[in-house]
Amino acid sequence: MPRPAFAAAAFLGLALALSPTTTRSAELAPAPRGSSAALDALLLAEVKERSELMKNLQYMSDVIGPRLTGSKNLERANNWTAEKMKAYGLENVRLEPWEIPVGWVRGKATMRLVDPDNGRELAIASYGWTPGTGGKKTGKVVVLTARTKADLDAHRGKLKDATVLLSAPKEVKPITDLNYPAPAGPSAGQPRKDEPKLPDPKSSTDPKATDLRQSGLDAVTEFLKAEGAACVCTDAGKPHGLLVTTGGWPADRAAAEARLPRVFMAHEHYALLHRLATRPDATTKVEVEIENTFVPGPVTVYNTVGEVTGGEKPDEFVVVGAHLDSWELASGTTDNATGSCVVLEIARTVAALAKAGERPRRTIRFVLFTGEEQGLHGSKKYCERHKDELPRHSAALVHDTGTGKVHGLGLHGRTAVREVLEPQLGALAKVDGWKGLDMRGMGGTDHLSFHAAGVPGFACLQDIDEYRLTHHTQSDTFDKAKEPNLVQGAQVLGVAVVRIANLPELLPRK
Ligand SMILES: [Zn+2]
Repeated sequence: MPRPAFAAAAFLGLALALSPTTTRSAELAPAPRGSSAALDALLLAEVKERSELMKNLQYMSDVIGPRLTGSKNLERANNWTAEKMKAYGLENVRLEPWEIPVGWVRGKATMRLVDPDNGRELAIASYGWTPGTGGKKTGKVVVLTARTKADLDAHRGKLKDATVLLSAPKEVKPITDLNYPAPAGPSAGQPRKDEPKLPDPKSSTDPKATDLRQSGLDAVTEFLKAEGAACVCTDAGKPHGLLVTTGGWPADRAAAEARLPRVFMAHEHYALLHRLATRPDATTKVEVEIENTFVPGPVTVYNTVGEVTGGEKPDEFVVVGAHLDSWELASGTTDNATGSCVVLEIARTVAALAKAGERPRRTIRFVLFTGEEQGLHGSKKYCERHKDELPRHSAALVHDTGTGKVHGLGLHGRTAVREVLEPQLGALAKVDGWKGLDMRGMGGTDHLSFHAAGVPGFACLQDIDEYRLTHHTQSDTFDKAKEPNLVQGAQVLGVAVVRIANLPELLPRK
C-alpha cells in the first residue's frame, strides 16, 4: 500500500526506535512529532510489523488456559498481563481487587442411559455455580413443559431422582448455515453476542404462562428441588456435539448449595433423550453423577490495569478494555483472550509511541476486566471504584466478539459522538474490513457498565466468524484465532483510542 513519504520516513525512524532487539534504540532520537495522520500511520505500521498478539494469545490460551473468575488460572492471567504491561513500559500497573461471594470448581459430570440399557453415554456440562448430585442418581427422564402451577401439580410425588427436560429440543441449523444471516425476530439486524440462555417462563409469550411468569424459572426449580429431582437438563442447542455453559453466582454459598444441579446437554443427546422420553408408556431412565464444588467466599479477584499517562491532561482518561475471564470448557480463546490480547497489543504500541515522543494528550487506561461472564461484574466494580474520575472519562471501548475483523464501533445512537469522531477516523478507510461508525449498539459486554454510569461506552462490532458456534464451548481454542483479523482489530481500536485521547475536548455525553 502506498504511503505518504513523511509517514514512511517517520515509520522507519520509529521502527528502529521501537525494535526490542536493537541495541541502538536508546541512542536514536525519537521520531519527529508529526501530524495526527502521521501518528495514525505510525500506529498502523507498528501493529502490523511488530505485533506480539499471537504469541501472547497462544500463551494465554495454552499455558495459562481457561480463566474462570475466582480460579487460580485467572489470578495467574492477572499477574502475567500485569508483568506484560510493565515490560511494555506502561505506568501505574496494578491489580484492582474486588470480591465474589463464593468460588466454584467444575467437577466431573457424567450421564448414561439405563433404560434402554444400550450403553449410550450422554455428554453434559454443568451450568456455572450449580452444585453436584452428591453421588450417582438413577431415575426417570421427565419432560416437563409446565406453564401453570396446575401443570406442576400433575408431577407431584413422581420426580424423585428424575432428570428433567424443560423444553423440546432446539432447532439447530446445519453447520453449512453458520454464517448466520441476520436472525429473525425483533432484534433482526442488531449486532449481538449470542449468550446461551435457559428457557425462562418470564419471557414466555404463552398466554397460559401467567402463574409461572410471575415468579419466573425459580417457581419450577423450587418445585423440582422439593420433589427431589436429580438435575435439570437444557439443550446446548449447537451442532456436532458441542457443549456450552453459562451461569452466575448467587448472594452466598448457602444459596449456591441450595440450587438444583443443572446441566447443558449436547444437542444430539438431548434430542435422543427427548424422543425416548416422549414415547407412549416410556420408561426412560438415566444415571447421572455431577461433582462440582464451591470455594468458601468471599474470594478476592482482580482487574488488571495499566496506563500510558497523558502528556497534557493526565487526569482525563480513555479506557480500552476487554474481559480476561472466560468459561472453562476450553481455553477461552475467542471469549475473550482475543480481546485481551488486542488490548495488550494496543498497550504495547501506545507505550512505544509515547517512548518515541508521541505521548497521548490524555491518559489511556488499559483494563482487563474479570467476572464479565457472570454479569459484567468487573467493569461495574471499575466504575464504582473510579466513580470520582468518571466525569473525566472521555470514553470506554471494548473488544469482545472473538476473532472476526472489526467493521465498526457501535455508538448506541450517540449522534453527537459520531459528528466528532467520524472526521478523526480517515486513516481507517485503508484498513481492510473497516466499514465505519455504526449508530447501533451491542449488548452483553463491559462497555455497558460505562454506558450505565454515564460514560460513552462502545463495543467493537466484529465479523462473526465462528464466534456463535464456539464461544462458551469446548471448542473455544487457539486454533480458531485468525491473526490478520486480530491485527486489524488492534489497528482499528488503536487508532480510535489514540484519536479520542488526543481530541481537544472529552467526547460529548448527550
Ligand atoms: Zn466475552
